Amino acid sequence: MDSAALNALASSDPAAYRRAIRDWIATNLPPAWRSDAIDKVDPTLEELKDWEARMYRAGLWGAAWPKEYGGHGLTLREHLIVSQEVGRVPMPESVNSIGKELAGPIILAIGTEEQKKRFIPAILEMREIWCQGFSEPEAGSDLAGLRTRATHDGKVWRINGQKIWTSGGWRAQRCLLLARTGTLEDRHKGLALFALRMDAPGVTVQRIKQIDGEAEFAQVFFDNAPVEEIDALGAPNEGWKAAVRVLEIERATNRMYRAWRLENELRHLVSACRADPNLATLLSDPAYAQRLAQFRIEVEVLKRYVEGAVEDLVSGGSIGARGSLMKLHWSEAHQRFVALAMELLNQASLPPPPEVRAAQRRFRKAYMRARAETIYAGTSQIQLGIIADRILRLPRAA
Ligand SMILES: Cc1cc2nc3c(=O)[nH]c(=O)nc-3n(C[C@H](O)[C@H](O)[C@H](O)COP(=O)(O)OP(=O)(O)OC[C@H]3O[C@@H](n4cnc5c(N)ncnc54)[C@H](O)[C@@H]3O)c2cc1C
Repeated sequence: MDSAALNALASSDPAAYRRAIRDWIATNLPPAWRSDAIDKVDPTLEELKDWEARMYRAGLWGAAWPKEYGGHGLTLREHLIVSQEVGRVPMPESVNSIGKELAGPIILAIGTEEQKKRFIPAILEMREIWCQGFSEPEAGSDLAGLRTRATHDGKVWRINGQKIWTSGGWRAQRCLLLARTGTLEDRHKGLALFALRMDAPGVTVQRIKQIDGEAEFAQVFFDNAPVEEIDALGAPNEGWKAAVRVLEIERATNRMYRAWRLENELRHLVSACRADPNLATLLSDPAYAQRLAQFRIEVEVLKRYVEGAVEDLVSGGSIGARGSLMKLHWSEAHQRFVALAMELLNQASLPPPPEVRAAQRRFRKAYMRARAETIYAGTSQIQLGIIADRILRLPRAA
């Protein structure tokens, strides 16, 4: 079925639309790429780019983006259906999630017509991978303290400074860059957002090695790096407003499939435990059963948060500070769950059966990655601060 036929099903028969997406994934995803596969192989970057471009052509990426910019012209409701089906299957994470889930939405919201026509199709077709250049060595939680400067030399903007923790910076063609146009004292007033070319002269990328052996992050240095006027996103002094919108999207609808992927992790853990006599016994221990049931409840709560947010957005509402509730909820719950998974899997029989070895490999990685989940997109303390200020409206301590 081509994307036009799939998109037509969305309004005529949503159940068939869902089934068609499920079938497409089952037919096209190489089984060895699933993170629950016993004989798992890691796809290369080129294979992943090709896979995501195929997903787009089939109608699975860009469902809710306007047709005039290459999207499929549906709504966030269909994006949610796609996300639920993507979440059900433990497929590789997108290598362009910053392009698709942060840069794309903000360009659609504040970009010029020309920018939308240029950037959006390039993201969907995987011709341009994006990274996010917000954090700096002296500005993480306190983003308004960032020092990377953007000055206009009469012809182009010139960028000087340094970013850090730039996920996927080494593979990106574009950077969603937040830089200072005013003085440091202006704080959030003198900031601007840019679509910087990563191959521009004066841009140096250094990869950073992580505890799990991978080098997904980079630090990026800018030495008079040029940004053309046509690549400035929004007004020069409105970067803060745009950045806050990016962060709200990041906390609420980024990786909309997450709750369904967490459900898949829970199922995988339980089925791996059932394959091992030692672990099967532990599953019926009331203390473990209680903790597993607790996570099941937390996943259901997260699903309702996401579904509620989608309904509100479709009816013209905004996400606002609610994104902080969602971010805090999933990151803290997931951290507890992967710690529980490791506690269980470490008590496997020796030698562990292949199903348990596959689960150990998956959850060891998930355990280490989850350490970062309460840090990126704003730490748990920052989310608690936003919830206290903007949702509960608690008074500040004198
Ligand atoms: C896996 C991962 C991927 C990331 N990817 C990107 C990316 O692609 N692009 C990007 O720009 N950044 C990225 N980041 C950076 C991330 O946004 C920052 O790490 C985060 O904002 C925290 O900033 P910091 O590390 O400077 O810590 P700090 O801000 O120095 O915080 C240190 C500690 O102090 C606490 N703290 C700080 N301020 C307050 C406060 N006001 N109230 C209470 N407690 C406070 C924090 O909660 C934390 O525990 C990534 C981070 C991680 C871990």
